[in-house]
Amino acid sequence: MRETLVLNASFEPLATVSLRRAVVLVLQGKAVVEQARPGRRVRASAVEMPVPQVIRLCRYVRVPFRRRASWSRRGVLVRDRHRCAYCGRRATTVDHVVPRSHGGEDSWLNTVAACAEDNHRKADRTPEQAGMRLLTAPFEPTPADALVLALGAREGLPEWLAGQVAVSAA
Ligand SMILES: [Zn+2]
Repeated sequence: MRETLVLNASFEPLATVSLRRAVVLVLQGKAVVEQARPGRRVRASAVEMPVPQVIRLCRYVRVPFRRRASWSRRGVLVRDRHRCAYCGRRATTVDHVVPRSHGGEDSWLNTVAACAEDNHRKADRTPEQAGMRLLTAPFEPTPADALVLALGAREGLPEWLAGQVAVSAA
């Protein structure tokens, strides 16, 4: 669920992100909390902070005036947070939902992150033909989404912090 608004350094609204991603951006020092949800705290291991409702990026980012975010394999992996669309485990490959041999395109709506095993298992078939179910539907990120996704990439987060963000009432 997207519940936190992201502002550019210039205060112009850019995108909305999940609470988890907002916390990661703040912990990575890429954004500051502008407005917090009253009475609620979020805990990430040893760190505790108010639940951010609005955050602002520390550095101004130029958003391209393209209507659509251009498709890339790396972009699909980032959009899906390196989670396999079929089993939820770590994904390193990109699967074409409708295989290219069946006319499937390199597009946001036709591609998902997939683990090598599931990609191999699905092979040259549609999910229906392979008897595999998508856990989440692919979506087309806006350029602002793509940008915030790239900013919030998990790589910079220390191992002990990743996966340990929890919300609690104060
Ligand atoms: Zn998988």
